[in-house]
Amino acid sequence: MNALHALVTYGLKHHWIHSPNPSLANLFNLYKLTIESYREIHSDIETTIASLLDAGFNRNLFEPNTTTERDAFEAYLFDFIMPSPTETKMTFLRLYQQNPQKAFSYLYDLSIDVNYIKRKRNLLNVSFSYPSKYGKIDLTINLSKPEKDPKDIAKALEQQNLPKIGPKCLICKENEHNYENARMNLRIIPITLHKRLWHFQYSPYAYFPEHCIILSDAHVPMKMCDETFHYLLDFIDYMPDYFIGSNADIPIVGGSILDHDHFQGGKFHFPIEYADSIKTYTSGDVTLNLLNWPLSTIRLESEHRDALLNLAKRIRMVWSTYDHEALEIVSKSYGLHNTITPIARKLDHVYQIDIILRNNRVNSTYPDGIFHPHRDVQHIKKENIGLIEAMGLAILPGRLKTELTKGLDYILNGKVYPELAIHQSWLDTLKQSNTVHTMFDLEQAVGEKFQSVLEHAGVFKLNPEGIRAMDKFIQSCL
Ligand SMILES: [Zn+2]
Repeated sequence: MNALHALVTYGLKHHWIHSPNPSLANLFNLYKLTIESYREIHSDIETTIASLLDAGFNRNLFEPNTTTERDAFEAYLFDFIMPSPTETKMTFLRLYQQNPQKAFSYLYDLSIDVNYIKRKRNLLNVSFSYPSKYGKIDLTINLSKPEKDPKDIAKALEQQNLPKIGPKCLICKENEHNYENARMNLRIIPITLHKRLWHFQYSPYAYFPEHCIILSDAHVPMKMCDETFHYLLDFIDYMPDYFIGSNADIPIVGGSILDHDHFQGGKFHFPIEYADSIKTYTSGDVTLNLLNWPLSTIRLESEHRDALLNLAKRIRMVWSTYDHEALEIVSKSYGLHNTITPIARKLDHVYQIDIILRNNRVNSTYPDGIFHPHRDVQHIKKENIGLIEAMGLAILPGRLKTELTKGLDYILNGKVYPELAIHQSWLDTLKQSNTVHTMFDLEQAVGEKFQSVLEHAGVFKLNPEGIRAMDKFIQSCL
């Protein structure tokens, strides 16, 4: 079978394996073939894998024949020809001694070459930007993550009564080299941050270059605390080319995974980095800026790590009990509401921490969250405004792609689509305004909506009253 030979040749070419070795017999045996007469065959890897997947399904090696199951089997096939988890960790650590970037590039390239990072699928995403009041913001309509096939859902239902073994969640370290969740080709790297064990891995559906996850060794809930700042700074000392940030630790303002402590990072400059300053402060060796950014953000900068850490901790502590009822900021009612979304970067020798102030209270006017996208913008984005959005990159639901195409048809040609009911009043306003003539124009209108989404998430609004209160809050922390 030529495709098997082509897969092995691919592994040899990348120097992951050396000469057809005995363990490859298992791979050939899977297809009931012997490896005795190995021939070097070069073919493009996508064709090779597609052909092996088709042959695998025909031989009942997996079922059903859905994207989810094909992904899992594909990861399983790559595992035969790639370095083992232990080899990968050893190579990474060896390269790290030479040059940190070299080690991270090794893991990143490996993750792409074995299609753990779904680069081709990620290209399906539709990306555009919008010149907001706060500077350029970025938007991505997420089309890369395949939707669950009904056959996968049926299979999961059949298996729901079987005893659950394996990882407790999608990011647990036990996912490495695990068939379930298509993670046989996942390789993770242990790292120690502030005397605690974490693991580094890349995200398969990268929303930005070198999008990575740093996950706690144990499956323990997200927790924002003084140590959080130490973890963040330790990471940027370990890998100065990446930023790192954390989602908040409570619902509504947090990310989608609250039950496993983790951070996200990568090699990307988000719009928030370019935000102007409204007011600058100094406290000892630390410079602070109240940013002109829709989510209430304080930027701290210093070459002195300890001074920066102390002030960041103090801001978090003061914020945790801060109240301003006229602005609807109440730290404690039916629960504790104040938390933060922190981000850290290193620019040459200067450490930078952005502290985004968050509050997750709901009331009768805003049952989904006072500082959460309000109803009038939820047709564009109703999910939590997590770390990535808070930094100015919108991840919008895939449904929007067809909805915008139909919406444009309605605006230009008056064609009515009943499924567009959630967008109707917005589309009518745009149609009457006569400002939308192309998809670009419509995307800009989406950008304007996302600007409102971000404004809704800001606890201190950037009006004179809000800025005054935020200024007073910062002064009280100095
Ligand atoms: Zn977990």
